[in-house]
Amino acid sequence: MEAGLNTFRLADLVVEGCSRAGDQTWFRVNPPGVAFDVGRGPLKLTGVRDLFLTHGHLDHALGLPFLLSHRAMQGTDSTTRVFCPEPVAAAFERFVASAFALEEREYDYELRPLTPGARVAVGKGFEVEAFATEHPVASLGYHLWRRRSHLAPELQGLEPSEIARLRSQGVDVSAHTEELFLSYCGDTGPAVFEHDPRLFEGKVLLLEATYVEPALRQRGREFGHTHVEDLAAIQERFRNEAIVLHHLSRRHRFEELRAAVERQLPAIAARVHIWGEQQ
Ligand SMILES: [Zn+2]
Repeated sequence: MEAGLNTFRLADLVVEGCSRAGDQTWFRVNPPGVAFDVGRGPLKLTGVRDLFLTHGHLDHALGLPFLLSHRAMQGTDSTTRVFCPEPVAAAFERFVASAFALEEREYDYELRPLTPGARVAVGKGFEVEAFATEHPVASLGYHLWRRRSHLAPELQGLEPSEIARLRSQGVDVSAHTEELFLSYCGDTGPAVFEHDPRLFEGKVLLLEATYVEPALRQRGREFGHTHVEDLAAIQERFRNEAIVLHHLSRRHRFEELRAAVERQLPAIAARVHIWGEQQ
């Protein structure tokens, strides 16, 4: 098993992955079965076709050529789709091209540069939307939208046989709504909430919280990371069912972050999950 592998579950959502600052960060999200970042290339991601990279820092992206190579070796029949921020697409292309040259083989993949607001269909009823984050290099976060279908309101109260008859006549009996199922921020400072306040509304928010000690707040500002104190002023705004804090600095123990959350974020403490804490 991958060292440091953890799992988070909420209803039918399963998130697996590893996240520690400067070590590696990757998540596999099911449904729909996509990866957000690829860390150093865990074998757990070999079966994943859609890889969404938030930025080029190697603790999030080093594993890309390894996964493409591994998928090629496994004879995966679907083209791997790699999504990344538009300004670093050429660098990722060269990175993978170097791996091609070293291995003297080609990988079946396509690189799709994204800008904030771009949307991509990923499996039945799901879309991923890119949003802007705050980091010293080109970066994006990703929203995962889920389309829900239910009986059109004007047809509610009808007998099931009548609905079946309408359906057989080709009438669309459904209405569709969209739910913000999960948001993944990658590495970011707290300005991400100004860029995209929808982060407060999604069902699950995967948010980095790198620093805990008061003395490290300035460091967070310089390097585009979130300090637990940054969340104190905005804690009343979180409507999410679960807030999953990840990317904790190796300077801190999980218990220190938990204690800081209890002390400084009472409005959300009961909904906060700390990635790695259960180990
Ligand atoms: Zn980074």
